[in-house]
Amino acid sequence: MNDNRKATVACPFCATLNRVDLSRIAQHPKCGKCGKPILLDRPIAVSDATFERVTADTTVPVLVDFYADWCGPCKMMAPLLDDVARRRAGEVLIAKLDTDRNPATGMRFGIRGIPTMILFRGGQEIARRVGAVPPKDLDAFVNSA
Ligand SMILES: [Zn+2]
Repeated sequence: MNDNRKATVACPFCATLNRVDLSRIAQHPKCGKCGKPILLDRPIAVSDATFERVTADTTVPVLVDFYADWCGPCKMMAPLLDDVARRRAGEVLIAKLDTDRNPATGMRFGIRGIPTMILFRGGQEIARRVGAVPPKDLDAFVNSA
């Protein structure tokens, strides 16, 4: 079987971008530079610097949560996104972008309210939800990719 699920993600420890084979996440991929584990069963952080590479070079859908630390509804979404990332690891990449620290990407996508969830496939935006998404709708939203 030709399994072509790949993701490009930044190592949370040294920030090096790593290309990860998502069909092999059970084998615990490690960062090619620092050797620390790359954990894909939880949301990964993206930034102005890494956003383009992560969304364009990941072959599974990427759900980006545009959030800010001070935003109450964003805090409500966090455990729901953790849950989707854990249940659907290797099938979808859950990414989080702090809009305060990364204003360029938020501006580029015209983010006016947070949280905003944008679903990408092959680097292209294919769906968007503004505001907190009810738990029962989150999987359906991911499935629209
Ligand atoms: Zn590393």
